[in-house]
Amino acid sequence: MKRPLIAGNWKMNTSPTAGFALYKELLSGKNAGAFSEDLEWLVLPPFTHLGAFQQLGGIQVGAQNCSQHSQGAFTGEISVDMLSDLGCRYILVGHSERRQYFKEGAPELIGKVSQIMIAKCIPIFCVGETLEEREQGITEEVLERQIREVFDQFSYISVDVVLAYEPVWAIGTGKTATVEQAQEAHAFLRQLWSKFVGENRAKNTRILYGGSMKPDNAGALLSMPDIDGGLIGGAALNANAFLSIAAEF
Ligand code: PEP
Repeated sequence: MKRPLIAGNWKMNTSPTAGFALYKELLSGKNAGAFSEDLEWLVLPPFTHLGAFQQLGGIQVGAQNCSQHSQGAFTGEISVDMLSDLGCRYILVGHSERRQYFKEGAPELIGKVSQIMIAKCIPIFCVGETLEEREQGITEEVLERQIREVFDQFSYISVDVVLAYEPVWAIGTGKTATVEQAQEAHAFLRQLWSKFVGENRAKNTRILYGGSMKPDNAGALLSMPDIDGGLIGGAALNANAFLSIAAEF
């Protein structure tokens, strides 16, 4: 049985001090029973916060990014092993902000996914079309290319990858895909994914929706058959909003 997953992507927000206060607020909500234990819950804070969060514990942490290399002379980079040592099991890969601002493409993403799989961690692999691509009617083509250019390189996918459908036009814009648009993209991704891992594993693969998910639209999105959780940006920075989204399950 698939366990729904709600992940909060804090991006480059909060100082370590403010982030620790937010983590503690979330922990109080969790301890007060704000949401079902059936739900898997995760925060993806900046790297600088991970050590302190791990020490306090209580809420699972993951990472927003990792190096495509295992170790060595790569100034400023953070390896998967370092993240794993700090308690990160999930690592975000291919977020549209990294694709757009840091020009990450297939070569980098292949390296990152392979480092993550070697460490037996789990990539949360993001895909999504721009508004222009949606208007041209090539959404599925774009999603398929983003998946194939990375996962065609692996003869066996050894970990239970989480996929995240994040229409670029909905990220941080306040615009959300309609439930029908999101369900259609998720169903397409699941069908495509079955070609990589087989039907049974694809059925059990969690596909998250991301793009301005908030307490007032989360319930409808999360009720769709192929939406298995959420990747939440802006609303994850507000403890009440994030707890309310988790309570929708
Ligand atoms: C994201 O960055 O992954 C995201 C979904 O952001 P937001 O919820 O702010 O649109």
